[in-house]
Amino acid sequence: MSQAKGYAAQSATTPLAPFSFERRQPRPDDVVIEIEFCGVCHSDLHQARDEWGGSIYPMVPGHEIVGKVKAVGSNVTRFKVGDPAAVGVIVDSCRVCEHCKAGLENYCKEGMTPTYNGKSRVDGSLEQGGYSNEIVTDQQFVHKISPKLDPAGVAPLLCAGITTYSPLRHWGVTKGHKVGVVGLGGLGHMALKFAHSFGASVTLFTTSAGKTEDAKRLGADEVVISKDPEAMAKQTGQFDFIIDTVSAAHDVNPYISALRLDGTYCSVGIPDKPLSIQPFNLIIPRRNISGSAIGGTPETQEMLDYCAEKGIVSDIEIIPIQKIEEAYARMLKSDVKYRFVIDMKTL
Ligand code: NAP
Ligand code: ZN
Ligand code: ZN
Repeated sequence: MSQAKGYAAQSATTPLAPFSFERRQPRPDDVVIEIEFCGVCHSDLHQARDEWGGSIYPMVPGHEIVGKVKAVGSNVTRFKVGDPAAVGVIVDSCRVCEHCKAGLENYCKEGMTPTYNGKSRVDGSLEQGGYSNEIVTDQQFVHKISPKLDPAGVAPLLCAGITTYSPLRHWGVTKGHKVGVVGLGGLGHMALKFAHSFGASVTLFTTSAGKTEDAKRLGADEVVISKDPEAMAKQTGQFDFIIDTVSAAHDVNPYISALRLDGTYCSVGIPDKPLSIQPFNLIIPRRNISGSAIGGTPETQEMLDYCAEKGIVSDIEIIPIQKIEEAYARMLKSDVKYRFVIDMKTL
């Protein structure tokens, strides 16, 4: 065991505060990473405040982790001390079910082990995330990152990046497609970058008129203010694919209506209320609704390699760990440009 430090929530209503805890002794397949940067995902806030139910405390959030390898177990060949390395949302899975064997550990039939707010499959201990100085993770769930990219900008790729890359790839978004992105926060800005990079014509739907210029810089061809019913009515029947990244309950029917025949609405946002869908919107014309959760390890590495090749990183605002509650407050006001990343030197 080694003594680690981090920031933890002790309950749904207490602010995150300094916390000391133990990291396990590395096992033969483990990689010990000294954490340099950790992105701040809206899922961290949802879970720290128990908005989805079932949160386990104390909780050190953080699943967009980038750093340098500090030590490796005896079986580890893919990493050596000093290598850049990253950990995302998953740290283990059953590894033998049909989905795991297909590289879709995110959909493990037994349920994947999350980086935090979950228990180890090996010894039942509580997993703790990246708002901390180091992490010990099985090599299968550690990703290689290019030294060519800014490590702080890479961190959000581990969740916001893969969560948007995976559905855009799965539904084959490419040149000639008209794609909508709903919400311009951490996930939304990565969705704009990827959809644009894949050659689609991209429209951002936003509640924040002030984000229009940024959206165009990030890859949007058009920006529609979703609070404007007239502008929304003009979108009917136009889109092949719409990815909804909104974190709070909202009316999704205008987006279903915006799909063309056989178009697909995909929710990656996880509001704490059920979606309410008008059945006529689904049947005339025939339309699909779907969802998607992060991505498996092969696709996460594919996405990181794609970003290295194309020079894609997240647009970030670096914060000291002491400002985490302020960052959460700004996130709740949609005031994120476009991902907070914690500089772990400040811990
Ligand atoms: P974020 O940075 O806070 O961005 C969310 C954006 O949604 C906001 O910037 C805002 O964009 C829009 N929004 C917020 N409240 C709204 C409201 N009441 N009505 C309409 N639009 C609203 O959050 P994030 O980190 O991107 O995460 C987004 C969601 O995805 C969260 O629910 C998170 O838990 C979930 N998530 C899912 C997965 C997955 O695997 N499926 C992975 C990671 C995160 P505008 O200002 O442009 O309107
Ligand atoms: Zn996340
Ligand atoms: Zn499995």
